[in-house]
Amino acid sequence: RLITAQKLSSHEEAQERALRPKVLDEYVGQEKARGQLQIFIEAAKKRGEALDHVLLFGPPGLGKTTLAHIVARELGVNLRQTSGPVLERAGDLAALLTNLEPHDVLFIDEIHRLSPVVEEILYPALEDFQLDIMIGEGPAARSVKLDLPPFTLVGATTRAGMLTNPLRDRFGIVARLEFYTPQELTRIVERSAALLEVKIVPEGAFEIARRSRGTPRIANRLLRRVRDYAEVRADGVVTRETADAALSMLDVDHAGLDVMDRKLLGAVIDKFDGGPVGLDNVAAAIGEAADTIEDVLEPYLIQQGLLQRTPRGRVATLAAYRHFGLEPRGAGGL
Ligand code: ATP
Repeated sequence: RLITAQKLSSHEEAQERALRPKVLDEYVGQEKARGQLQIFIEAAKKRGEALDHVLLFGPPGLGKTTLAHIVARELGVNLRQTSGPVLERAGDLAALLTNLEPHDVLFIDEIHRLSPVVEEILYPALEDFQLDIMIGEGPAARSVKLDLPPFTLVGATTRAGMLTNPLRDRFGIVARLEFYTPQELTRIVERSAALLEVKIVPEGAFEIARRSRGTPRIANRLLRRVRDYAEVRADGVVTRETADAALSMLDVDHAGLDVMDRKLLGAVIDKFDGGPVGLDNVAAAIGEAADTIEDVLEPYLIQQGLLQRTPRGRVATLAAYRHFGLEPRGAGGL
């Protein structure tokens, strides 16, 4: 997927890393999460203790990974990074934990996808900084307890609801990341443009910002594409007009919806009379995984008031009909 694809090419990934803010003061928006973290980090540093465990949740691309790196940097410690699906066996996690230095940050992305055996050994590690592992098999197997250095787990997830209760309860700090406002994204686009040495006027930055689905990762990505367009078709300066022409070429419409957004809304309206329709039916109709629809596509459409999740299924709102210039009909079109 062109716009909201979660996977980036390695070249793009390197560019993304270069654009990452390194300290809290450079991190735009997310006032609530930023304010909380600022206080707790300072308090932990004053007391000379490890920061409490932190859970970050929200849709992809909003800056969870960036924030985890910033937390480690502000604490002045190392960050070790892994992800839920990568940690298959208890030993994988044990190896990581035993290599931590005191007060280090362990960042686990997609923490809702940890396997139950790994989660089991994570509990005592989080609570008492102790590791309970089994060594050997069969009658010779024995349980060994190891002391761990105090550390901070930063967990990131797109789905806080999929975390087990005991795991969720072990996070002292829980921060929800929200979609960014066009004004906040404008600041991010202008900052990235300066780092990439792209010439851009404020109206050009705003045009990219307001069409980036409230998501910094998409804003940065669109900025790079618009820059290419400006270099080839214009004089290299990103104005509102060049941004508009480039984004239209990329099939990002005036409301900032891309092909998949429109396909999803279009299917609910055309194939299911506006809904209510179950997630699996929509997934089959547009040939997209149900998980991707729930995690990547829907949150923004719901936030924009174009789609509703009801107990009976997904419903296209009146605003969705208007978006396509249609009159509401059928059971949906609330
Ligand atoms: P995922 O959940 O898929 O890992 P994420 O939420 O962790 O995504 P990041 O990779 O941290 O997203 O952010 C994507 C890019 O957006 C970063 O490279 C960074 O340049 C930019 N970015 C994110 N948040 C901010 C912010 N608050 N201020 C400035 N730039 C940001």
